[in-house]
Amino acid sequence: MENNRPKILIIYTGGTIGMIENPVTRTLLPFDFSHLMENVPKVKLLDYDIDNIQFNPPIDSSNMNPTHWRDIAQAIECNYDKYDGFVVLHGTDTMAFTASALSFMLENLSKPVIITGSQLPIGEVRTDGEENLITALQVAAATDKAGNAMVQEVAILFENYLWRGNRSTKMSADNFNAFRSNNYPELATIGLGIQFHEEALYRLPSKRPLKVRYAMDPNVMFIELNPGMTPETLEYLLRTPKIKGIVLKTYGAGNSPSEPWFTQLISDANQRGIVILNVTQCVNGGVKPLYETGNCLSKAGAVSGYDITSEAAITKLMYLFGLGLPPETVKTYLQSAICGEVTIS
Ligand code: ASP
Repeated sequence: MENNRPKILIIYTGGTIGMIENPVTRTLLPFDFSHLMENVPKVKLLDYDIDNIQFNPPIDSSNMNPTHWRDIAQAIECNYDKYDGFVVLHGTDTMAFTASALSFMLENLSKPVIITGSQLPIGEVRTDGEENLITALQVAAATDKAGNAMVQEVAILFENYLWRGNRSTKMSADNFNAFRSNNYPELATIGLGIQFHEEALYRLPSKRPLKVRYAMDPNVMFIELNPGMTPETLEYLLRTPKIKGIVLKTYGAGNSPSEPWFTQLISDANQRGIVILNVTQCVNGGVKPLYETGNCLSKAGAVSGYDITSEAAITKLMYLFGLGLPPETVKTYLQSAICGEVTIS
């Protein structure tokens, strides 16, 4: 018989939340889902129907790659109609990359995909994992007054906040509040209750069926500027075999050296069809055409990343090249928001 209980699918990929300590090496290793659930008996108090899928074996998220994103996306696609929401348990190290990648891959998503994990394993007495898992389930089950899913996007739930996935960055290797959107407000504040900020939540312009874009092109990379970078180093990096797109991490509001050798190398790479996306190294703010040192990059053919995060920038390039688009079309899409990942000023 059908019931009205929220139906949630947990996809357990690994991460600290489910790890246990190896008694010999004293290092943490991923462990299976049943261990995790044994440590959170309170989950049974939620009046939800919960099922799970687990990565076999679960992984430390430092080993995450586009094949794993594919597996997560496929689990969501195959179960999309059967569940009201999805909770992805994931290591914190690359959580913001996965959240960004899934936001692009799950085109027309209108159900919650809530990613969480923890800083301390679930078996530790002071773990943050129990609270994060329970709150993530509650967020995935939350509805608005009309009975529609409150969250209709990929989001990261961690400690006191719910953040848009493709706006998030891991900010701390220690704090329980490990994530932040430096250029976008929180989607919900978690305190005594869960307070959603409805004006910040993403809504599709029009409802369409979910379409999963599985192909993510890995031929992209970061180049981070540092004072003293030599022409030889930059040229070597720009000539990386097979490279199609580069996220250039520049200074401040998008500035780079204005010396002729630098501009020439960027311009040559652009002529060879490499897409160069200019993002700031700063954690807050974005690329703005304020200085001549920023202007020369756009003259050389680099495109502005505005206030996009590095994680969203690199996965957006993977997604756009994965669609098989030519460089000029990729550049056009970089100048617009696909699913709330950037503010075009
Ligand atoms: N190394 C772990 C991971 O990303 C860290 C964590 O989960 O907090 O899987």
